[in-house]
Amino acid sequence: MTTSLDAMARAKLAELDAASLKRTLVASDRTDGVHIEREGPTLISFCCNDYLNLTHDPRVKAAAHAATERYGVGSGASRLVTGNHPLLPELEARLARLKGAEDAVVFGSGYLANLGIIPTLVGPKDLILADELSHACLLAGRQLSGAASHLFRHNDAGHLEDVLETHRGSHRRCLILTDGVFSMDGDLAPLPDLVELAERFDAWLMTDDAHGIGVIGGGRGSTFAFGEKLPVPLQMGTLSKAVGGYGGYICASRPVIDLLKTRARTLIYSTGLPPGTVAAAIAALDIIESEPAYCARPVENAALFCRTLNLPAAESPIVPLVLGEAETALAASRMLEAEGFLVTAIRPPTVPQGTARLRFTFTAKHTEDDILRLAHLLRDRGLAAA
Ligand SMILES: *Cc1c(COP(=O)(O)O)cnc(C)c1O
Repeated sequence: MTTSLDAMARAKLAELDAASLKRTLVASDRTDGVHIEREGPTLISFCCNDYLNLTHDPRVKAAAHAATERYGVGSGASRLVTGNHPLLPELEARLARLKGAEDAVVFGSGYLANLGIIPTLVGPKDLILADELSHACLLAGRQLSGAASHLFRHNDAGHLEDVLETHRGSHRRCLILTDGVFSMDGDLAPLPDLVELAERFDAWLMTDDAHGIGVIGGGRGSTFAFGEKLPVPLQMGTLSKAVGGYGGYICASRPVIDLLKTRARTLIYSTGLPPGTVAAAIAALDIIESEPAYCARPVENAALFCRTLNLPAAESPIVPLVLGEAETALAASRMLEAEGFLVTAIRPPTVPQGTARLRFTFTAKHTEDDILRLAHLLRDRGLAAA
């Protein structure tokens, strides 16, 4: 029997499939932080966000095991009830120290963090200005807040200034949102300019540094990537990329953190992170704080790739190769897979129409040989110049 529900789902899927926009999940057995087994031969992944390969680090795994034995597999409740096991405040103190902030609060994930933070800070009488390429969860938080909002052109501080001049005056509070490192392009936000504008217009700058912690600014993220620490009052990020595990966080002043703990709905109405996950993050931060040369490796590896292909210099471990149509990006991804490299095609709506791409990510443990073989293959197949 076909219900109208199934008919709707089938029609939508057929439409997406025809446009090369249907997505599917593939079981991916990550064996060591660099290699992946799917059906067929082992692949070298150039698309994980595990920049420091900490997902499989023995020290991080041991910490997760020990905490699981000590505290159990789950936290048992929301943090405001009984889920605030002692590892959570310890992790928050460590994050605040790394980021040079007064305090921090940890959420279930980066996505949940943004959904909770943004509506706590601004509401319908207020204004949000966001970079047009900001991550989907910043934009989702913006929608939930009910604030008036405008997008400014990507990394265009001049355009942000125009928008502030036009709109700031008619709103009570103003929040500026940007990725610190852009997730699909790998470029950094022009934070010194954004900080200056935020101060001049009494706006609050919030960076989503999901791809900054552990890999740029000496491992401390985008706030530290421009020399002196910049006064960014709201530094949000995730524990799921270079940190290797799971969870979201924000570092800010104590009153802001106290407000988020008492009002952010995704903190209040969602269960605290499992103890093993929190212990893993603490162990990962130990490594990030004590091994700066290792933390620099992902960007060095991205830089080698860019030099080999005459691409613009890498600013982060993420390097895009924009190919245009979704089908072109899918075909390039399939070609690489046949040659032993896993690089997922990124298509709309994750990126704007006409900018489907291969998104390469580099990790500390990629070898020079892996990187050069990949670059030469792209050159030989006419996907990149040399
Ligand atoms: C991955 C990502 C997130 C989401 O973080 P999760 O912890 O995976 O939910 C948020 N912002 C940016 C920029 C990201 O790349």
